Amino acid sequence: MSKYFQPEIETAPVEQLRAIQDERLVKTVKHVYENVALYRERMDAAGIKPEDITCAADLYKLPFTYKQDLRDTYPYGMMAVPMTDVVELHASSGTTGKQIVVGYTQNDLDVWADIVARQLYAIGADKDDYVHVSYGYGLFTGGFGLHLGAQRIGATTIPVSSGNTTRQITILKDFGSTVLCCTPSYALYIGETLEQMGLSPDDISLKAGIFGAEPWTEGMRKDIEKKLGLKAYDIYGLTEIMGPGVAFECEEQTGMHVNEDHFIVEIIDPDTGEVLPEGAEGEIVFSCISKEAFPLLRYRTRDIGVLTRKKCSCGRTFIKMSKPRGRTDDMLIIRGVNVFPSQIETVLTQLGYSANYQLIVDRVNNTDTLEVRVEMTPEMFSDAVRNISAKESEIREALKSLLGLSAKVKLVEPQTIERSIGKAVRVIDNRKLHD
Ligand code: ADP
Ligand code: ZN
Repeated sequence: MSKYFQPEIETAPVEQLRAIQDERLVKTVKHVYENVALYRERMDAAGIKPEDITCAADLYKLPFTYKQDLRDTYPYGMMAVPMTDVVELHASSGTTGKQIVVGYTQNDLDVWADIVARQLYAIGADKDDYVHVSYGYGLFTGGFGLHLGAQRIGATTIPVSSGNTTRQITILKDFGSTVLCCTPSYALYIGETLEQMGLSPDDISLKAGIFGAEPWTEGMRKDIEKKLGLKAYDIYGLTEIMGPGVAFECEEQTGMHVNEDHFIVEIIDPDTGEVLPEGAEGEIVFSCISKEAFPLLRYRTRDIGVLTRKKCSCGRTFIKMSKPRGRTDDMLIIRGVNVFPSQIETVLTQLGYSANYQLIVDRVNNTDTLEVRVEMTPEMFSDAVRNISAKESEIREALKSLLGLSAKVKLVEPQTIERSIGKAVRVIDNRKLHD
């Protein structure tokens, strides 16, 4: 069986991909200029006509699209087709403010199914697999996105949705689920619950997991792989662009291939908007080039990442993006040091902790403070009660030397940090309460 769902596209020569992008971008620009008032006004104001965009290399001439634009045109102002052609709506999970709503035509849903199917094939799944979807179903794109892909490959789809974790385990066992799809923090939670129920990975049949919708580290990947006895793969997406499947990880597990026949990706300097060369870290920007209902151009994701065209051993030619560090909104500035929660997670998992941690930010006497709360693993807890302060200072020193970060560290008992069935809440910012 092929590990590619659409080999002719997934392994196409780069020139061929560029030709597809040229043609589709030109078409999309014309489509939004004619059908979306905001794009027409923006392009007119910038003095750009659709004819000025003749190929993908002209993309930089177009203005950016921001999340605020979607809020300002809420609910249907960005739709590029009449609502009679829109067959499904989804909304962002609202992690960072007022929700936005997006629409899909039947063709858009077909494309979404295809790109998630590419992910499933890439991790070795096919029609004989049992795909257990524990992302939330509903307006959130996670559940339905993976569902569409699983159906597209003809797998046996198990639409469990999130929550009721002991029931998840019963279903994993009884239904023989082979592929688990959920957020990485929920995967970890399911793994812990398995353990608490006195079961081991040998009692279930999972071989692979597709985990995304939030940042996670290599340390967390290892932990999940061990706890659930599977190979853990990353999947990236966002509601505004499509949902999960915009980019997908292959067997190499070193970053995610962007589905370049449907999306053009750029990395820009978030401050100046300048396009950065391959290999530079910056804000990820996407343009949709095949979407009908909701095609955004140069959408500022606020996610920070890096792109590479280095040849991948899987044979795919799509550009790869690194695991995003997180969103610019999540970056903490603690007494002049910029740090993403994922960087702290890397330090903690390297020291043998699992990714059950929380960051509490406050302001005391006009100075920002950070407290890192980390759960001990049950083994540490049983033999280390008297070593707590030594362990805390070990973490404190590591944060200082690896990230230049001064923080208060507090080890807490196992199972005391709240578990998440969707996106984990890593940061509690008490400064907002005082403002
Ligand atoms: P919301 O913006 O309300 O959280 P979405 O569900 O659309 O709604 O979230 C998309 C965002 O989730 C992305 O912009 C990114 O910040 C994050 N995300 C999605 N997949 C990943 C991933 N694999 N790694 C890191 N972050 C991810
Ligand atoms: Zn690859």
